[in-house]
Amino acid sequence: MTETTITPESAFATAQSQLRKVAGLLELEEGMIEVLAHPKRELTVNFPVRMDDGSIRVFTGYRVHHNEARGPVKGGLRYSPMVSLDEVRALAMWMTWKCAVVNLPYGGAKGGVIVSPRELSARELERMTRRYTTEIEIIIGPGVDIPAPDLGTDARVMAWIMDTYSMQMGYSVPGIVTGKPVGLGGSLGREEATGRGVLYIAQEACRRRGISLEGATVAIQGFGNVGGAASRLLAQAGAKIVAISDSRVGIYNQTGLDVEAFFASRLPGGYIGDHTHHIIDDFPGKGTDHVDITNEELLELPVDILIPAAIEGQITDKNAPKIRAGMIIEAANGPTTSAGDEILAERGIYVVPDIIANAGGVTVSYFEWVQDLQSFFWAEDEVNQRLQRILVSAFNEVASVAEERKLRLREAAYVVALQRVVEAIRLRGIFP
Ligand code: GLU
Repeated sequence: MTETTITPESAFATAQSQLRKVAGLLELEEGMIEVLAHPKRELTVNFPVRMDDGSIRVFTGYRVHHNEARGPVKGGLRYSPMVSLDEVRALAMWMTWKCAVVNLPYGGAKGGVIVSPRELSARELERMTRRYTTEIEIIIGPGVDIPAPDLGTDARVMAWIMDTYSMQMGYSVPGIVTGKPVGLGGSLGREEATGRGVLYIAQEACRRRGISLEGATVAIQGFGNVGGAASRLLAQAGAKIVAISDSRVGIYNQTGLDVEAFFASRLPGGYIGDHTHHIIDDFPGKGTDHVDITNEELLELPVDILIPAAIEGQITDKNAPKIRAGMIIEAANGPTTSAGDEILAERGIYVVPDIIANAGGVTVSYFEWVQDLQSFFWAEDEVNQRLQRILVSAFNEVASVAEERKLRLREAAYVVALQRVVEAIRLRGIFP
């Protein structure tokens, strides 16, 4: 996840290869595979924004709807210089499978703007968000396409989207986005929901494997919304977090890190390292005997559980032979390339795939949307209990399919997801 990482296989190529493999297992007809392989709708917008110094800058953004057979489309909005149409297509396709595997009544979508959000002032970011929202307004709506946070976006950005859309409509529409601030119709528990989902999945995966999560050593790549919350909740559950990293630096201490202390002294933006790519010197929580490591080194540590929680394309055919973790829980979207995945499988490493491991975020997004539509809000423990129930039963369904059909978890998750999407397409028929 270093800022210079070169993705060896494009994200959409990974997504396509995963689809084709399981479509073959299910013996789907070629026409159906073609439907699933293509995003239904792709919007590219180039739009001007007035910068603080008075100049005009043109930004490029996307919103892709992959498949809407099962309902309105759902998926995050990413602000990153690495955004491309190829990446957004892959992420939209993964959202279709993710929503289907946990049985949410949604199809998949994703959006992105090519931008380094930290290089913009708050006012520039707000103007850019409001203009992008207006540009994609022709294809979003609370019953059409409901965006949410992803890499580089947060509750504040969602609030601007909600306000912009509501201004255009002339009335307040909280159900247009999820991941909003709680004071605007956001759901309790949404912010840490993806990380909490990773915890529930880790607990269930350990239970099924007969491993104790308590005392298990864990390395987590990424200390943002997902990796940060996951490390904190896993530490609270008794796991020993031995390594964490952000896009600048990583740190390893085999006796364990004090995750709470890292939280308390993170820099703005959640960083644990500074611009010179050095871990913050006086960081409490790193303990004695710590070593500074790179993101690449983190992936190859001898740990019980490895959690990539950053970006796609991190585990490849180059480093998969060197991975020493017994279990990988994919908290990021698409962290493993298809070639990397083959090697992990040959080596018997137990991989919990992204579409189930990180589905906690969209599941609580669904709860938020339901609460907004009903104007009736739930207590946080109700949100968490419902989240746990959905994820645990989806995980066990996938694990049973894997056992019965002698498949890996990723293939089994795709089997469950594809069957649901294909069933919806068949029930609806091909229009006209
Ligand atoms: N961006 C998150 C994901 O990749 C959440 C999407 C959502 O809540 O709609 O799953």
